[in-house]
Amino acid sequence: MSTDASAARPARPAPNARGEFARSFAGVFRYGRHALELAWTTSRALTLSLAALTLVAGVVPAGIAWVGARIVDSVVAAIRDWPVLGTAVYEPVLGYVALEALLVALLAAAQRGLATCQSLLRAQLGQRVNVMILEKALTLELAHFEDSEFYDKLTRARREASSRPLSMVMRTFGLAQNVVSLVSYGAILVHFSPLAVAILAAAGLPAFFAEAKFSGDAFRLFRWRSPETRMQMYLETVLAREDHAKEVKLYGLGPLLLQRYRDIYAKLYREDRDLTLRRDAWGFGLGLIATASLYGAYAWIAVAAIQGTITLGEMTMYLMLFRQGQAALSAGLSAIGGLYEDNLYLSNLYEYLDQPVAKPAGDVKRGPDPADGIRFEDVGFTYPDADQPALANVTLHVRPGESLALVGENGSGKTTLIKLLTRLYRPTSGRIVFEGRDLAEWDEAALRDRIGVIFQDFARYQLRVGENVGAGDVERFEDRELWVEAARKGLADPFIRELPAGYETQLGKWFKDGRELSGGQWQKIALARAFMRTRADVLVLDEPTSAMDAGAEAEIFEHFRTLTRDRITILISHRFSTVRMADQIAVLEDGRIVEHGSHDRLMTLDGRYARLFSLQARGYR
Ligand code: ADP
Repeated sequence: MSTDASAARPARPAPNARGEFARSFAGVFRYGRHALELAWTTSRALTLSLAALTLVAGVVPAGIAWVGARIVDSVVAAIRDWPVLGTAVYEPVLGYVALEALLVALLAAAQRGLATCQSLLRAQLGQRVNVMILEKALTLELAHFEDSEFYDKLTRARREASSRPLSMVMRTFGLAQNVVSLVSYGAILVHFSPLAVAILAAAGLPAFFAEAKFSGDAFRLFRWRSPETRMQMYLETVLAREDHAKEVKLYGLGPLLLQRYRDIYAKLYREDRDLTLRRDAWGFGLGLIATASLYGAYAWIAVAAIQGTITLGEMTMYLMLFRQGQAALSAGLSAIGGLYEDNLYLSNLYEYLDQPVAKPAGDVKRGPDPADGIRFEDVGFTYPDADQPALANVTLHVRPGESLALVGENGSGKTTLIKLLTRLYRPTSGRIVFEGRDLAEWDEAALRDRIGVIFQDFARYQLRVGENVGAGDVERFEDRELWVEAARKGLADPFIRELPAGYETQLGKWFKDGRELSGGQWQKIALARAFMRTRADVLVLDEPTSAMDAGAEAEIFEHFRTLTRDRITILISHRFSTVRMADQIAVLEDGRIVEHGSHDRLMTLDGRYARLFSLQARGYR
């Protein structure tokens, strides 16, 4: 991989670029629509309830303030009218008090309802987003998983899937509620003075825009730096996980890696600090303007009450509206301030979900010429982003009943060839033909059904032993008889029987009573897994027996050949004692076939193969 990470990421945004403000500002609200859409498609009932309750919770405070004013005014009037009307003056006062009590109860109900909807939606949204992420994962190709940036998107999307979607929906609704409140306060205040409302709005807007802009800046800053955070996260994994602990301890890598972790932190912290300082300084300054104008209006109201332009009740109401308005304003501003985090999550999630996937290629389920086996016709392949081809001009032909061994140094392209054959990747040039049809025309499921592969890094599922064997054929995953038969063929049956619960033994350390197997035992499980695929006509073994000794490997391969007489076997091995048994041997070097033929032919050729063979044979003598 290239060490120059900057080449792979977008250029850092230049500060003060023209239009940057507008972009920052719009950026904060860009994903609000997505958030609402997500909530709406998850549960319409809950979303509608949330919207209705948000409206109620937003408007009712203004109503309470209005009734409060009526109470004060009616008390003043009652004191004035008492001598004339007597006890009749209580009636309006108590009526208003009852109304206010009712409104307060309504507000409490709305707030409680919001909390209830929130709890219900949390579970549903989390599940929905998780399922969306996993469903998408099933449609992806191997190339996606091997692309670091894309893989990073996937893990980040998954990590916060249960908390973030709810947070963004609630923040969006919370913001809406504050806006509704502010508008309703404004609607009442207009009766006092439209000018005052205009001044207050003008004074509050700068703080609002600044908050939105800085939130947008934070969003872009955090997005831009994701390679660094990814490295930090990786270092955390290496430093704190059991599978790395052994090497980190023995090689004393800990302090070095920790220092690297610290350096990244220091760099990120400087950027964070600068943004935080700027943001808080501006926030404070602009907030001060809003507060000052608020208190100017406050004084104006007090004066108006003294002069008798407004009643005492109205004065109480306006003052209350101001205080609540102030609170709603700062709540709204902090909601905007937090929006960037939700946006980060959503942008990442949607980039992941919108990743284009290749359409399933063909629909061929059987080739016209089963006896033709597999042909590689001048196949070449270059990994995405690589500048050297991993394979070039590969031409091979293997018929049913034949075996092919691939030999070559590490990195010579052996595994890549297998990945092409199993269509995990597509050739960049040339073509691969199976039973007379181009691999690209085959129906994916039909093709995979015909090919059984054990990769060098085969999966070690933390499931029961039997299921680890059964994984070779999903349709017969639970078929216990077949497990035993496959395990016998893979020579795994004897040691499985000695495990505490036989085929039912749980494997792996994640679970209670989980057993660990040795490398060689795992490989036998993997072999057994390949034998589950009784329909597979092509069996591929990518160094499946490297953890066994040479004798055991040769024995297994011999055994394997007798069990797979009419099938195609492709074998990758570094052991020539095994390789020599294959019908054809292809020697790979830098992605090209440099020698090709049977063992005897290659030995008479006296080239590279012969040299390597004698070298190894001498070692065993
Ligand atoms: P072998 O199996 O013979 O050890 P591989 O087929 O794994 O070799 O690798 C062949 C070449 O392709 C190597 O140079 C390796 O670095 C490169 N390569 C392997 N996998 C990838 C990948 N996922 N992305 C980019 N390059 C890769």
